[in-house]
Amino acid sequence: SIAPAANFLRNTIERDLAAGAYAGRRWGGSPGDAAHHAAGEIDPAKIRTRFPPEPNGYLHIGHAKSICLNFGLARDFGGICHMRFDDTNPEKEDQEYVDSILDAVHWLGFDWKADGKEQLFYASSYFDFMYRAAETLIERGFAYVDQQSAEEMRTNRGTLTEAGKDSPWRNRPAAESLALFREMRAGRHPEGSMVLRAKIDMASPNINLRDPAIYRIRFAEHHSTGNAWCIYPMYTFAHPIEDALERITHSICTLEFEDQRPFYDWLLEHLRDAGLLADPLPKQYEFARLNLSYIITSKRKLKQLVDEKIVDGWDDPRMPTIVGLRRRGYTPESLQMLAERTGASKHNSWIDYSVLEGCLREDLEAKAPRAMVALDPLKLKLTNWAELFGADHSEPCSAPAHPHHPEFGERSFNLTPEIWIEREDFEEVPPKGFRRLFPGNKARLKYGYIIECTGCEKDGDGRVTAVLATIIPDTKSGTPGADSIKVKGVITWVSVAEAIAAEVRLYDRLFCEEQPDAGGRDFLEALNPDSKRIITAYLEPGLATAKPDQRFQFERHGYFVADREDSAPGKPVFNLAVGLRDSRKA
Ligand code: ATP
Ligand code: MG
Ligand code: MG
Repeated sequence: SIAPAANFLRNTIERDLAAGAYAGRRWGGSPGDAAHHAAGEIDPAKIRTRFPPEPNGYLHIGHAKSICLNFGLARDFGGICHMRFDDTNPEKEDQEYVDSILDAVHWLGFDWKADGKEQLFYASSYFDFMYRAAETLIERGFAYVDQQSAEEMRTNRGTLTEAGKDSPWRNRPAAESLALFREMRAGRHPEGSMVLRAKIDMASPNINLRDPAIYRIRFAEHHSTGNAWCIYPMYTFAHPIEDALERITHSICTLEFEDQRPFYDWLLEHLRDAGLLADPLPKQYEFARLNLSYIITSKRKLKQLVDEKIVDGWDDPRMPTIVGLRRRGYTPESLQMLAERTGASKHNSWIDYSVLEGCLREDLEAKAPRAMVALDPLKLKLTNWAELFGADHSEPCSAPAHPHHPEFGERSFNLTPEIWIEREDFEEVPPKGFRRLFPGNKARLKYGYIIECTGCEKDGDGRVTAVLATIIPDTKSGTPGADSIKVKGVITWVSVAEAIAAEVRLYDRLFCEEQPDAGGRDFLEALNPDSKRIITAYLEPGLATAKPDQRFQFERHGYFVADREDSAPGKPVFNLAVGLRDSRKA
């Protein structure tokens, strides 16, 4: 297996811990703040990270990477990872998403219980502190209420090559801004009529420092604070404060936020200087997001796939959502493996989808019990059966549930005079090098006898309807005669009398293009028309009792999972998780 990839965050944390960077930490905020005691006593030797999703949708594979990174670093360095809902945006958030996110994090194998308490936080519980921080900035001359229109503000912000222009409200007295801000809070001004802006530098080469908006008016009900507020903090203002109040040491985010770091530091330093926060302050570190080929991760576009019924819901096994991957048969360990292997880097790159598939294969190879199936069944008649064994005989066969794990036990099934084989295992006129069944050739029925093909039956259109073969006596697997004849082909099979017919869903990639939504292309044009094929297959009888979510290797085909929604004992439904090899490799 491949060693974990380079992860610059590990080096940073090791250095910080060695330098005792967090010694003497106290809580941010002042006594009585909701946040003040939120995370329990501080242990200066511990790092704190956080996973801070907005509860406005289902998580995807990119979030899985962030979860593994943040919770994984905390675990590996004896620290704590906070589970935090960044719920400062009232309109799009919902309890349904909160629940599904918690479920996803748990399923991935992580827990926010640490030091005997739930390290579970909601940014909205800091609204009082954030409001006070905003008033403090105004009082100290570092924020003002701006009454320009959104359009004017945009224009006056300037461009990369052109400095911004001061708002006519920029130098209004602090007392006037304070009074207006309080009126904003009291609901006396309509949405869009004014915003609170930090007062930094309209000529800064970093546009994010050109007086960013920090509070806006929104008459919207919030999923947890209800109608208590009609002004809401902007993400760039809220997030550093959340980190500081929770005494996060390493605030890890994706590279797009690199240009926000100066504001992150500016804000926290000003609040510290005002006595609202204490050193050491959290630091932001940016890493390259996970970009996987052949998928899209934009919430808007994923929603479009669901709304337009191109997929069967958020948990469709073709979706890159965590619920979709889970239903497809992905294991938490395979997603953790992907996160380890892709490391943490400062440079954006694309990871081929086959890397993810390889992780699942590697995980399931050791874990998944084996079973035989016929996905594209063709009947084979053993014509000397009655003569050899008597017409009513069933020949018991057994096989290890896993070739390298005897502790998985044995599977047993019967060989009977009619069996299902794969259609591709018979050729009336064999192509060069074909080793399986053709008239005159011998091959082994896996875990059974060597047989010799004698011909076939056809329908009126010339299509083969059954293969005919004879058993060669005394060649059964596991008996002394097994090796008396050398054959090159091995055939998987199930008994016609005892196989169970089941629905099997053969999934493939949802998109045919490596970057389905690159360069403004309509991603719907890149859809793979054959991403889902439903077949009825014949399965080894033991699979009848498969439990939902149970994974198997269907010998020579790939890994399949009993569908967690539709599979029932006695009536299993299987999803293809991943084939045995990467069929796309040259
Ligand atoms: P949207 O898709 O709506 O922009 P988001 O990606 O911003 O959503 P959040 O809920 O804000 O979603 O993200 C939670 C965390 O997951 C953030 O810390 C974010 O940086 C991280 N994250 C999101 N996508 C990826 C990705 N592709 N790779 C690594 N981390 C990611
Ligand atoms: Mg976001
Ligand atoms: Mg995003």
